[in-house]
Amino acid sequence: MKNNNEKTEMNKNISEESNVTSNFIHNIIDEYVEANPDNKIHTRFPPEPNGYLHIGHAKAICIDFGTAEKYNGLCNLRFDDTNPTKEDEEYVNSIKEDVKWLGFDWEDRLFYASDYFEKFYEYAIKLIKKGKAYVDDLTPDEIRGYRGTLTEPGKNSPYRDRSVEENLDLFERMKKGEFEDGSRVLRAKIDMASPNLNMRDPVIYRIFHATHHNTGDKWCIYPMYDYAHPLEDAIEGITHSLCTLEFEAHRPLYDWVLKECEIENPPRQIEFARLNITNMITSKRKLKAFVDEEIVDGWDDPRMPTISGLRRRGYTPEAIKDFCERIGVAKSESIVDIALLEHCLRDDLKLKASRVMGVLNPLKVVITNYPEGEVEYLDVDNNQENPEMGSRKVPFSRVIYIEKEDFMENPPKKYFRLFPGNEVRLKNAYFVKCNEVIKDENGEVVELHCTYDPETKSGSGFTGRKVKGTLHWVSAEHAIDTEVRLYDYIMIEDEENEGEMKQNLNSLEVLTNCKLEPSLSEAKPGDKFQFLRHGYFCVDTKNATEDKCVFNRIVSMKSSWKKKK
Ligand code: ATP
Ligand code: MG
Repeated sequence: MKNNNEKTEMNKNISEESNVTSNFIHNIIDEYVEANPDNKIHTRFPPEPNGYLHIGHAKAICIDFGTAEKYNGLCNLRFDDTNPTKEDEEYVNSIKEDVKWLGFDWEDRLFYASDYFEKFYEYAIKLIKKGKAYVDDLTPDEIRGYRGTLTEPGKNSPYRDRSVEENLDLFERMKKGEFEDGSRVLRAKIDMASPNLNMRDPVIYRIFHATHHNTGDKWCIYPMYDYAHPLEDAIEGITHSLCTLEFEAHRPLYDWVLKECEIENPPRQIEFARLNITNMITSKRKLKAFVDEEIVDGWDDPRMPTISGLRRRGYTPEAIKDFCERIGVAKSESIVDIALLEHCLRDDLKLKASRVMGVLNPLKVVITNYPEGEVEYLDVDNNQENPEMGSRKVPFSRVIYIEKEDFMENPPKKYFRLFPGNEVRLKNAYFVKCNEVIKDENGEVVELHCTYDPETKSGSGFTGRKVKGTLHWVSAEHAIDTEVRLYDYIMIEDEENEGEMKQNLNSLEVLTNCKLEPSLSEAKPGDKFQFLRHGYFCVDTKNATEDKCVFNRIVSMKSSWKKKK
């Protein structure tokens, strides 16, 4: 029998090989299932509707819904809308769309914490009657002052020992709206000397004369998260309440609320590490600032790490779920390399996306010995690695475009692409040789004259000679004009402050004169392709018009991930 450390090490090795990572939550639930074979596992995903979901939430969604799926249980979608000030219907709708898009289903279990306001109130009355809660008249500043520090105990509020009757009366009047915002709160009566600051008589209700998106003006007292959340879980019959690590120190309060409210079969809170990714922001507050300051063109800007941004960029739910699977579920904080997310995307699209030719920075090439007016339709596989994807016809003619960077007049050694006198292969077509370079009055190369060798047609079995370079190209007469957007990360390393990130001011490059092969005229918003040598691209869902597509680059071809490993 191996000891525990060796076992963890072993699991890690297995997971690296098979891409199945261990999940400590499942180990806990396994034990629960063994002890309670008749209970259904019930989890929930509880977003606060104060912003769009980001990649970190995708991890939480995969854990909440994925765990329920694994144990044949249920997972609720619950809007944790107990704070009236920052919430919005737009966010509610986007969250629903994102969860669905990831492929999860809450069936008929869509809930709002605000639907439970009445019940929270009743439980508060119960706590007051048990002598476990009191109305405090201290100001927020005074409460802070009385709280003590990590090394010093707090002090009891002079209002702590009010009678049950007085507390009931004051709390009811708080509810009726007799008092100003901030003038009174309801606090749990726990222990002002507790080493855990969260247990020093936490505030559980505050006065807030604000209109709530769901309950309107019905309430002017609102419950605090730490009080409401365990009750929400209990009301919905949640068995395992999975959340991020910052709630670990709040768990004693979570358990206290359930115990003092006398909840039978209380849910169990389990914390896991938040997802952090290099070059990505995973804080709604900061992402909202990007939107508000118009640094991006909305929550779904293709550079945003929001689920809607990733979707618009061209990410697939499969790639995101694969990523969440691979990073596993652990209790220690870490930062995941964004290269892993990109690797998952390439891996998913590799066999799904048609491989087509697109020239991003065109240079005109005339094949002088190719008959004028002639067009050949070459048979090209849509995806060499996936024959099921069939083939298409790609036109070849006398005038084509190649990539500007695929030609150099004075190349360095080992440059295998086109230069005067050199011969290269045109992908799926012929060998061509460069004979003449045409320049404009500024000396810039504007056109090349080449000749082709009819013997070298792709697929003809020609073995006469070999060439080292293969270029992609597009027939000029048949090309589709399009705009392509290339993206860089919006956060990059700050060279001046080691370890710090800064905003990238050049995260968007718009190329307006791109030429694509004509098969792409059928492309619809959201369709994804591999452009040979350039990476994966997706038709933008917002900027595309009837006669013009805009393509977003999802990710380039190169993977830095494998090399790093
Ligand atoms: P943010 O800090 O971005 O505002 P939040 O925790 O306030 O996030 P909520 O709407 O409360 O946002 O989050 C819903 C659920 O998603 C919570 O259970 C939370 O723990 C989880 N979650 C939020 N961010 C991450 C993350 N980066 N990684 C994993 N889970 C996360
Ligand atoms: Mg939160």
